[in-house]
Amino acid sequence: MIENNLLSVDQALERVLAGVSVLPAERVSLVEALGRVLVEPAVAGDDLPPFANSSMDGYAVRAVDIAQATDEEPVILRVIGDIPAGAVPDESLTPGTAARIMTGAPLPPSADAIVPVEFTNEPWRQSDRPLLDHIEVRRSVQSGDYVRWPGEDVRAGTEVLPSGHVLRPQEIGVLSALGLTDIEVVKCPRVAVLATGDELISADEPLIPGKIRNSNSHTLVAQIRSLGAIAVDLGVAKDTYTDVQLKLQDGLDTGVDLFISTAGVSVGAYDVVKDVLAAGGEVGFWRVNMRPGKPLAYGTYGDVPYLGLPGNPVSAMVSFERFARPAILKLSGHRVLKRPRVRAIIEEDIYSDGRESYLRAIVKQDNGKYVVDLSGRQGSHVMTSLVHANALLIVPAGVRHLSAGQEAEAMMIDWPETVF
Ligand code: AMP
Ligand code: MG
Repeated sequence: MIENNLLSVDQALERVLAGVSVLPAERVSLVEALGRVLVEPAVAGDDLPPFANSSMDGYAVRAVDIAQATDEEPVILRVIGDIPAGAVPDESLTPGTAARIMTGAPLPPSADAIVPVEFTNEPWRQSDRPLLDHIEVRRSVQSGDYVRWPGEDVRAGTEVLPSGHVLRPQEIGVLSALGLTDIEVVKCPRVAVLATGDELISADEPLIPGKIRNSNSHTLVAQIRSLGAIAVDLGVAKDTYTDVQLKLQDGLDTGVDLFISTAGVSVGAYDVVKDVLAAGGEVGFWRVNMRPGKPLAYGTYGDVPYLGLPGNPVSAMVSFERFARPAILKLSGHRVLKRPRVRAIIEEDIYSDGRESYLRAIVKQDNGKYVVDLSGRQGSHVMTSLVHANALLIVPAGVRHLSAGQEAEAMMIDWPETVF
């Protein structure tokens, strides 16, 4: 029987995403920019490279002078100077002359090519060699050979990165080469994490009867941080209305962009989260047609979007993957909110209960194809099968059985090489 508030995973995600919007911009220095999203296009103020320079250690020449050079009949050029990287050469080459030049150093006036040192008689394996008066060139080069021209990589005035671009180390490198060190990016979301449950003790405490260590807070904080967002740990609330309310108030006081709580959203007698939400904000409590992670509270608390994840550690982590991760990425300005997926051949028969299932699995490459197997027991309390997984294998809603040899979609949480 379909419950009237049973949503598909896609419907639930759509509603979650409709409730969050991209955060405003802030200016940051390049050191803080990794993983952030550009708000404005980055426009080059300079050419890159900024001046014509050598791509080899060797000699700056006029190509025409050495057009006939061979091993048997080398051309002899007079060396008029030495140009290390960072120098500014002023002496022009005249016919029959060359200047020693190092990689990255500017070409002297009139030079149009570089002869690599390996094409000359200079004893180039010796690091302390003196500058020679004359050099034998044993191979010809074409005009322009081994020269890096100004603007070859980036032209001044052009857009080098569009707005919305995610800054990886290579983008940070380009921006710094162009002197764009103060850039406008989307603010980093501050995401509050609240664990709830009378059974929880701190992870650094010895076990006592009836209690378990709080692991969800640590997992969620790590998941948030791995997205480049700021995790604000609100601690553990007891299963009471007032304690949950008190801890959420701490979050409101410090200013957060999203609340994530775990547990207390099911139909247990002490599941108080939805009552707190109903009183302090707006509650949309749903059952999502998903396994694991059927209960999901969504709404606002004091105007801040709120996601109440289930308590079972695997359900919490998978629900985070499916709902919180895209929401945090959207807040951060990302446009790609989905994990990559591959189609993989199932190695053994798989059974499901008709809900859209996310099974902990290992995807491997085998002769150019992806193959997938479950990574262990699938109970929503079994954390080690997540440790062994690099993917969540998706069994679509309505499907109860997949046979070995069939293909299915796997959502990659790591790449196939990352198998433990
Ligand atoms: P609940 O959603 O409150 O019914 O909890 C479901 C299951 O998750 C129970 O077995 C809880 O003990 C467990 N659980 C709840 N919170 C945490 C937590 N922070 N860390 C580890 N397990 C938890
Ligand atoms: Mg509970």
